Amino acid sequence: MASLYLHIPFCEKKCIYCDFYSIENSSTMDDFLRSLHREIELYSSFAGKEKFETIFFGGGTPSLLKPEQLEGILSHLHSVFTIENDAEVTVETNPGTVTREKLAAYQAMGVNRLSIGIQSFRERDLKFLSRIHDAHQAVECVETARAVGFDNLSIDLIYALPDQTMSEWEENLRQAVLLEPNHISAYGLIVEENTPLIRMVRAKLVSPKPADEEAEFYKLTMDFLQERGFDHYEVSNYAREGFRSRHNYNYWRHENYLSFGPSAHSFWREHGNARRWFNIANLSHYCSSLLDGKLPLLNEEHLTPDQLRTERILLGLRSDGLDIGKLEIDFPSNRLHVAEQEIMNLVDSGHVVFSDGVVRLTSAGYLVCDEICMRLMTP
Ligand code: SF4
Repeated sequence: MASLYLHIPFCEKKCIYCDFYSIENSSTMDDFLRSLHREIELYSSFAGKEKFETIFFGGGTPSLLKPEQLEGILSHLHSVFTIENDAEVTVETNPGTVTREKLAAYQAMGVNRLSIGIQSFRERDLKFLSRIHDAHQAVECVETARAVGFDNLSIDLIYALPDQTMSEWEENLRQAVLLEPNHISAYGLIVEENTPLIRMVRAKLVSPKPADEEAEFYKLTMDFLQERGFDHYEVSNYAREGFRSRHNYNYWRHENYLSFGPSAHSFWREHGNARRWFNIANLSHYCSSLLDGKLPLLNEEHLTPDQLRTERILLGLRSDGLDIGKLEIDFPSNRLHVAEQEIMNLVDSGHVVFSDGVVRLTSAGYLVCDEICMRLMTP
């Protein structure tokens, strides 16, 4: 099963921590949309009989799209690709960009999942992160989405902000759960290159939390959400039963995906060849390339069996577990016996469980996920 991703490269205002490609001026939206439709067209004979089971509008801020713009993209995708009747169709939604009418229109055209970027319910945090919405709008967005018929809602939160206390974060989690979403993504704040946040850190205006303190926040998150019935199915993701993100799950299972828009990247594997390619992260170059009838590619790589094996280990451990038998069938290696000893050590130390041939991280394992991945990748 494959996935489609669309990167909508506009935001009303950049958040200080964000390194996703987007620009603040959306006056070129029409040019972008024309180019996006051209790009979709160029892939019209690419996917053959492949069926797509998820469509994800990310960005940027896809909820800046007017309903008729979103509907135009969706209907074009349906005319070009074979899309499952029950496909998961997600729109990342910024609470500062939607009205009841817009959400109702999204729902009516077949969007069936919203991923709502709330980040925090505290005004001070939202101001620090330079979000365009306040806490009241965040709550209203979830309630309105539900009122117009969405029953698959995800909330994004960020923890370990420089001045955030553990009890403030716990209160955020409590408020999130009270809104009864089916899915919560909770990320530790990362200080990325080329963001206002890293400049603030370098100027000593803010201090990121030390790693051990951030780990305490992470532990609290895992405990809090698991105690309330959320399944911790990936490093940063928690879902009620039946509500895992099918789209992200496809990424983590190494399924094929095609992506459109500036900075988007795609992965496609067929007949034993695996390829990943990246679009240029510049809107005007993206548009001019497509105007010339060319794909707006920045780079591509062909993945070797060794690279695929490494990625399989990484993706499996970070999400639903690594099927060791299947790994060895797909990517035979003489390292298995060493890995097995390593796995037994990790079972003994309580970092993983190993059953039915599948290795899964425990909460203690998630806290040192990167280290475990390294140990199993290079035994
Ligand atoms: S709204 Fe989202 S994509 Fe846009 S700058 Fe903020 S975090 Fe980044």
